[in-house]
Amino acid sequence: MPLCCIVPPHMLERLAQSDSKSRRQKALNTLFNTYRLSGERTIRALTFASTSPDTGRRSVYDCRHGVTLSRAILTRTEDGPQSTDESVNRAFDGLGATRDFYRQVLNRNSIDGNGLRLNAYVHYDRDFQNAYWDGEQMVFGDGDGEIFVDFTKSLDVIGHELTHGVTEFTANLTYHNQPGALNESMSDVFGVLVKQWANQQTAEQADWLIGADILTPGIAGDALRSMKAPGTAYDNEALGRDPQPGHMSGYVQLPDTSRGDWGGVHINSGIPNHAFYLLATSLGGPAWEAPGHIWYESLKASSADTNFQQFADTTYAKAGLLYGASSKQQKLVSDAWDGVGIKVAGVNTTAVETENTLRELVKQVSQLTADIASLKAAGKG
Ligand SMILES: [Zn+2]
Repeated sequence: MPLCCIVPPHMLERLAQSDSKSRRQKALNTLFNTYRLSGERTIRALTFASTSPDTGRRSVYDCRHGVTLSRAILTRTEDGPQSTDESVNRAFDGLGATRDFYRQVLNRNSIDGNGLRLNAYVHYDRDFQNAYWDGEQMVFGDGDGEIFVDFTKSLDVIGHELTHGVTEFTANLTYHNQPGALNESMSDVFGVLVKQWANQQTAEQADWLIGADILTPGIAGDALRSMKAPGTAYDNEALGRDPQPGHMSGYVQLPDTSRGDWGGVHINSGIPNHAFYLLATSLGGPAWEAPGHIWYESLKASSADTNFQQFADTTYAKAGLLYGASSKQQKLVSDAWDGVGIKVAGVNTTAVETENTLRELVKQVSQLTADIASLKAAGKG
């Protein structure tokens, strides 16, 4: 599986073709170190045993601009004092907010549901234009200061990356084509929910942007992605235009290669992202309540090859189970998918069937009780 980075390859590749030599070099260096890390991850996965049960204790390390994680210095621990380095404290707080969101809102004990320790590395490399979760830990670059700033500054970026871990431990959606776009979308959905929950923002108050705090500090109001209006997150000379569709009619067919973003996993994620936004804003109030719970239960009920249609059908079924068949929540789930060009599969037939079967059983049991009673009466008589 490729490394789960917040900045998609198409953005870095655009920067790597820039007219500016310094922009080209920084982007190429980021791409180079990202590919190098993918290899390192595979090696680490073979050498590290899984961690013992815990409660998501945090450790933050300072890479001091190096690229070898084993040489980083432990700078802040769960019970230790604050650091004088704001990047260290922000990473620590972001890991904590994400861990607490999963625990308090979704009743999940850390990323793996079993208290996995949360380790983060800050100041990775120089001008590194990315942040990623590699299955073991989170790593943050400082950005170049022009296109990207310090990646610890965005809580939704931290929530996004750690959610890749949650997905890995639940549905384990494969990182290709529609399952891959769903994987990316889960990270965007729970990433914004972490931010909205931490700031106690309702669906109406939220900006529904991913990475607004780290992208192009010179340009106001732009971001990596917009769940409210996919395709409008950025439009500038350095990065080009946001290519995300928000409807199946704009679905982008791309090759299943690293250059094709594995079939456009960061691009077509705009479609399920927008469906979640439509549900959250039509229901109103805190999006981590009904919408968040429906999506989380559906993530846990999905598998590696789940596609958009199957996921949509699952959210509809889960909304029925959680809030009742034909509930307002369930109807709005169906409307939300309709809004992005996906029709959920008919009515909730299984629930209706179950209800009919139950009614039939109740009838039979009461008939039986009556029969026994009359038999007893006959015996006495
Ligand atoms: Zn991602």
